[in-house]
Amino acid sequence: MERSFEKEVELLRLGEGAIFHGEGILAVTKALLQSGVAYVGGYQGAPVSHMMDVLNDARDIMDELGIHIETNASEAGAAAMLGASINYPLRGAVTFKSTVGTNVASDALSNLASAGVRGGALVILGEDYGEGASIIQERSHAFAMKSQLWLLDPRPNLPTITRMVEKGFPLSEASNTPVLLELRIRACHVHGSFQTKANTPPPFSRRRALAEPDFDYGRICLPPATYAQEKHKVEVRWPAALRFIAENGLNELFAGRADDVGIICQGGMYNVVVRALQSVGLANALGDAEIPIYCLNVTYPLVPDEVARFCAGKRAVLMVEEGQPAYLEDALHALLRKADLQTRVHGKDFLPLAGEYTGEVVLTGVARWIEAVAPRGVDAAGVARSLASLTASKGQAAEALGALVPPRPPGFCIGCPERPVFSAMKLLERETGQFHVSADIGCHTFSALPPFNIGNTVLGYGLGLASNAAVNSMFDRRTVTVMGDGGFWHNGLTSGVASAAFNKDDAILVIMKNGYSSATGTQNIPSSPHQDAHKARGMSIERALKSLGIGWIKNIHTYYVADMKRALTEAMTTGYAGLKVIVADGECQLERQRRLRPQVAEQLKRGERVVRSRFGVDEDVCTGDHSCVRLSGCPSLTVKPSADPLKVDPVAYVNNGCVGCGLCGEVAHAAVLCPSFFRAEIVQNPRGWDRFLHKLRSTLIGWLQPA
Ligand code: SF4
Ligand code: SF4
Repeated sequence: MERSFEKEVELLRLGEGAIFHGEGILAVTKALLQSGVAYVGGYQGAPVSHMMDVLNDARDIMDELGIHIETNASEAGAAAMLGASINYPLRGAVTFKSTVGTNVASDALSNLASAGVRGGALVILGEDYGEGASIIQERSHAFAMKSQLWLLDPRPNLPTITRMVEKGFPLSEASNTPVLLELRIRACHVHGSFQTKANTPPPFSRRRALAEPDFDYGRICLPPATYAQEKHKVEVRWPAALRFIAENGLNELFAGRADDVGIICQGGMYNVVVRALQSVGLANALGDAEIPIYCLNVTYPLVPDEVARFCAGKRAVLMVEEGQPAYLEDALHALLRKADLQTRVHGKDFLPLAGEYTGEVVLTGVARWIEAVAPRGVDAAGVARSLASLTASKGQAAEALGALVPPRPPGFCIGCPERPVFSAMKLLERETGQFHVSADIGCHTFSALPPFNIGNTVLGYGLGLASNAAVNSMFDRRTVTVMGDGGFWHNGLTSGVASAAFNKDDAILVIMKNGYSSATGTQNIPSSPHQDAHKARGMSIERALKSLGIGWIKNIHTYYVADMKRALTEAMTTGYAGLKVIVADGECQLERQRRLRPQVAEQLKRGERVVRSRFGVDEDVCTGDHSCVRLSGCPSLTVKPSADPLKVDPVAYVNNGCVGCGLCGEVAHAAVLCPSFFRAEIVQNPRGWDRFLHKLRSTLIGWLQPA
């Protein structure tokens, strides 16, 4: 069962002239339907997972409009799907996170960009960069430059974001080039409103099918066509794109009184730039700024004439470009040189070379730049004073909170079924010594953090086993790879398992079968336990493994720590020389709770008897050595001061968050820890028998207590 987005789906039905209120990524989804898109697809990943979730829940709208929706097996599959736009006048959009997804998709994107498109092709990239990001810090800009894909980076407000989606398709068609639309994390989640248009059925669709296939050798990526395609990119497509961008005013110019200087920013940076100017008194509450701003809603390609027009007559400009390398700043230098303009270019000399451009970072950079260039009619010294005063109060707040707010690194959810596997590995290490673990991407990557510190390398989604290929033969004991079921279907089956089987690798693979792509919001995957009517059922990891000739497969329930340890020991020591696979079977607790909570609430409402388990620690027995905490890492298993004045160390304590997964008991048993853990049953809507038992037990315990 995936999370339902029924409320959001209703917003997709809004017609001409209505007002949409909501989140950025949902606005993008609505704009796609307004643009006459014929097909959509993608692969889940923050911060754009929401889009696929909503589209999947909006099947009836898709059916009415004749739009095909595909939940792609990977980003490569999503990008390749855009091939429908190469020969046919079909508008298509796919989505994935970047740069990790763009890396996976880049083969298809190169081919698509080379062949060129007839129908508009839009890739919505969740630019997962900065302090909230979960992946490698790189920029999508590089992909745009290398393959010549146009890159939109809209100003984070809903009217601009939706306008860029709607303009992205004709831009793509006018220049026969796929278009990337980059949405930073904050842009995806920004809230606002825009005036909607009616949804537009595509001219060709599942309801109005194409009659004839089209063959054009010029669109095949094979020499000599590829040579002609490269020439077409620079001689025809590029100039056509520049014309379209300029004629449609995709980039925005905001005039300002102090026009002897100016700020050029990526569209996505516009809000922080204006906020910085507001903070130092150089912009009003509506965002009207004293300093002119040239806002690049299209960051690739730059339009040389527009850039030159903005810079002409200015002493200096500040380029606000998040991330590195400084592609835009360097391009600006080159453009001004070619235009023979002497405007001084600043950017990374006032702003950091790398890292997210947060409000504070941009405020500091912009204020220091203003102080240095002293724009005409601006009190530069006053700006410096404003910055100093803002920084001072922030410093005081940080000092006051520093001691109170502990760091909160990410970690497994309470009761996560993946954690027990690492408890078992920790126990095994006591006997075998440490072994190399090739980790993968997913919730299980949190094992690299305390208390487990398990996982020596991470090379990419589904690439754990492939990354283990060389290291495996270099150790005197077997190594282990951990991969999620999402990673298995994405890339692990082919890049990892097929390769290990083909090469007869003596490797151990643990597949975390939690049932969903949990880290991205519990989307369904081919082996999910419940599928809706649009998806195939019964796709099995075990059968896929067997079909590749894997002869050593064990399915172990994750919470049985002792069994898991036994299976790992056997995998380490067996004479079987090929790939050994342990399928660690346990449903994602987040999804399980999401499924159970409404059921339990219903039962309680009906007055039915409900029993749930909670674990606890008897603090009289607990010695305070905390080995259970080191072997569990569950946020609910914590510590508290001991009531016993003779115990100096805090004792273990299970807080109210415990979902009774049972790991505490299992670990205490498997690790032969102290007997301080107990399992309690909480009975709601108790029956007569429950009340009688409770009374009996209380009386007995009362008798046994010292007077
Ligand atoms: S989302 Fe599911 S798999 Fe991921 S940490 Fe939480 S419980 Fe574990
Ligand atoms: S039983 Fe232990 S590991 Fe499971 S949820 Fe409760 S405290 Fe956490």
